[in-house]
Amino acid sequence: MTMPHVLILGAGVAGLAAALQLGRAGWQVTIAERASDLRSDGYMIGLSGPGLHAVDKLGLMPRLRPMGRDIGENVYRDRAGRELIRLRYRDLLRGIDWLTLARTELVALLQEAAAPFTALRLGTTLVRLEQDEAKVRAWLSDGSMLEADLLIGADGARSSLGRQLFGEQAGFERPLGYRAAAFRIPDRLGLGEDFLSYVEPGRVAETYQLADGELATLYVWRTRETGFVPSTERRGVLRAAFRGAHPDTLAWIDALPKEAPIYLDALTMIDRPRWSQGRAVLLGDAAHCLTLVSGQGAGMAMASACLLAQELQKGSVISALARHEAKLRPSIARLQAHSQKTASWFVPRSAIGFSLRNAALRYTPRWLLARHFTGAIRREQALLGDQTVFIALGRKAPAAW
Ligand SMILES: Cc1cc2nc3c(=O)[nH]c(=O)nc-3n(C[C@H](O)[C@H](O)[C@H](O)COP(=O)(O)OP(=O)(O)OC[C@H]3O[C@@H](n4cnc5c(N)ncnc54)[C@H](O)[C@@H]3O)c2cc1C
Repeated sequence: MTMPHVLILGAGVAGLAAALQLGRAGWQVTIAERASDLRSDGYMIGLSGPGLHAVDKLGLMPRLRPMGRDIGENVYRDRAGRELIRLRYRDLLRGIDWLTLARTELVALLQEAAAPFTALRLGTTLVRLEQDEAKVRAWLSDGSMLEADLLIGADGARSSLGRQLFGEQAGFERPLGYRAAAFRIPDRLGLGEDFLSYVEPGRVAETYQLADGELATLYVWRTRETGFVPSTERRGVLRAAFRGAHPDTLAWIDALPKEAPIYLDALTMIDRPRWSQGRAVLLGDAAHCLTLVSGQGAGMAMASACLLAQELQKGSVISALARHEAKLRPSIARLQAHSQKTASWFVPRSAIGFSLRNAALRYTPRWLLARHFTGAIRREQALLGDQTVFIALGRKAPAAW
């Protein structure tokens, strides 16, 4: 029997998780990744609920669990440096299992696990696409043409496959009204497990220890701008957005070595009417970006990859793509609605909203806050968790594709 072939665009969390599960299920896997190396974004991600369940089902828990960091308190300070609130994450996440690690660590582990099944072509992207009922034909930027049974676009929120399949993204994008930036700097603060956040109406800048000797920063600010910012302009855009903020927030930008990368993008949810067309499907942020506000994007990307591999075990590609979307979409819709509400809680827009949010964080009993913060995670875990199954190593794909 010839092995079915999948071409995956993008070696992020979604693409690598799909490569791992489909490779284990007997697929021949090629990944085309536009970047010349795997992205080393300087931020931490939290995994819980369906995402953590997916890590378990991917068989990665024994390796990932020891990488998890303890996170202690987040100390909120105002523009003048006065302490406003202290929040212990352990209190907020009470009663649920969670794991915090650097995104790069997760990507490196997924890459290592998927490597035996995967041909990874770095610095390569899709140039042209044709498909009929039987096959997808993809012309790549390295000059080759591949025939595949399935094409997965795991190429992030600004998906170029999404544009090719469904036209320009306008109409699918739901900007939350914020931009975010993140980068790493040498640690001169010695915060240990704690976070330091400078908060004010419309903007927040926080920092935390990423690894020994290294701090991660995260900036979020209110703006109507949503356009792509070239890497050469990001430092200037960020400095302008935090003009007049606490001087530390500008000092962190100055501590960034000149050539060091900055992640900077708008918080834009992607809400597409369809995720697939024929034998091509979008996965992860490309299909349904939740934004960092949900704290579930990477987790849902892995849960989605597990679910897709599971559905592909059951029958033809076209019917599997339809079942995958039908099962996952209700969870995504609920998480997106939750993100929309949470954004203005995370970074209140007005002075009144800011004061109300701070008062709520200060005076609400911790058990009630915990119920609010973990409600969405628990619900999706309960509804989605057992639909994702582990595909055992060496199990062969079914005959009909
Ligand atoms: C600051 C921050 C904090 C976050 N915190 C959390 C959290 O706590 N928990 C959580 O679960 N999620 C979190 N997220 C969200 C999470 O990081 C994303 O949802 C997740 O990384 C999406 O994975 P992806 O593989 O779909 O897309 P991406 O990670 O964007 O990967 C896309 C890949 O495709 C490549 N690519 C792009 N275009 C092309 C092309 N044309 N051809 C080939 N390759 C291409 C890119 O180079 C990249 O490697 C956070 C995000 C940010 C920015």
